[in-house]
Amino acid sequence: MKSRILTALVSAAALSAPLLAQAQTYPDKTITVIVPFAAGGPTDTVARLVAQSMGATLKQQLIIENVGGAGGTIGAARAAKAAPDGYTLFLHHIGQSTAPGLYRKLSYDAINSFEPIGLITDVPMTLIAREDFPAKDLKELLAYVKANKDKVTYANAGLGSASHLCGMLFMTAIETDLTTVPYKGTGPAMNDLLGKQVDLMCDQSTNTTSQIKSGKVKAYAVTTKTRLGSLPAIPTMNEAGMPGFEVAVWHGLYAPKGTPKPVIDSLSKALKIALKDPMVKQRFADLGTEPVAEARATPEVLQAHLKAEIDKWTPIIKKAGAYAD
Ligand code: ASP
Repeated sequence: MKSRILTALVSAAALSAPLLAQAQTYPDKTITVIVPFAAGGPTDTVARLVAQSMGATLKQQLIIENVGGAGGTIGAARAAKAAPDGYTLFLHHIGQSTAPGLYRKLSYDAINSFEPIGLITDVPMTLIAREDFPAKDLKELLAYVKANKDKVTYANAGLGSASHLCGMLFMTAIETDLTTVPYKGTGPAMNDLLGKQVDLMCDQSTNTTSQIKSGKVKAYAVTTKTRLGSLPAIPTMNEAGMPGFEVAVWHGLYAPKGTPKPVIDSLSKALKIALKDPMVKQRFADLGTEPVAEARATPEVLQAHLKAEIDKWTPIIKKAGAYAD
């Protein structure tokens, strides 16, 4: 019996030995970060800033691979199947916690297919419209949308995206269904909003701040409790007439399940340094957000947060009756 246990232990050690040896020299080549949305959108923006800074610490380049579609679930599935060697990472947002409630079948497990590395930032959302949309504030918007529900269109990044979640909460609150137009990310959705091909969108401030500031889109409200320093003239949903409407889009960094602990530790350390990098902090501030406090940029906090968010959103999604096969 003893020798059987010993043999099992020896072969387990032999199996993980190459991974551990690699972990000691990690990283010795370029790291790919899968972002499950199109380039140019808010998740992509956060990823590129953090990747640039982490790359300086790790002395290796982190490159972004945009794998958009199906609200982030295509990119998540790809990341879950990647080799667990630290050379493929995954940066996703709140969608990691809403997909299990929205999709009847997923080819990955939101918790068990990944190793958490750390939380990155909580980004406010903004409810916006094409620049010539005929409603000057939220009250007028609600009246217009209810009266014209068959012709108003709402852009999102697919079922499971943050823009979908915000739109779902909005439509549920006003008991009005709008025609949704899904994109591979809100980068391309913003282009269509600027081109006046769609009417409304609710998206992270990291994608909307500069367009709001330059007057290229109309902004009705922010989804935080208090106004944003970067957009002081925009009321909160509460002030504008929709009390209790609050969403913050948290972002986290993951690796595929089985990535060696020393690798996760060095990534987590590099993430913490990135979140204190003045360049990252300044760019985040310009875009209406800030990095999470250092104590939250850890694997343990991300894991606990993900679980709590799945528990929070699943019943809300079920109640709204939103789901996909
Ligand atoms: N903001 C998008 C969303 O709705 C995703 C993106 O393009 O980053 O989830």
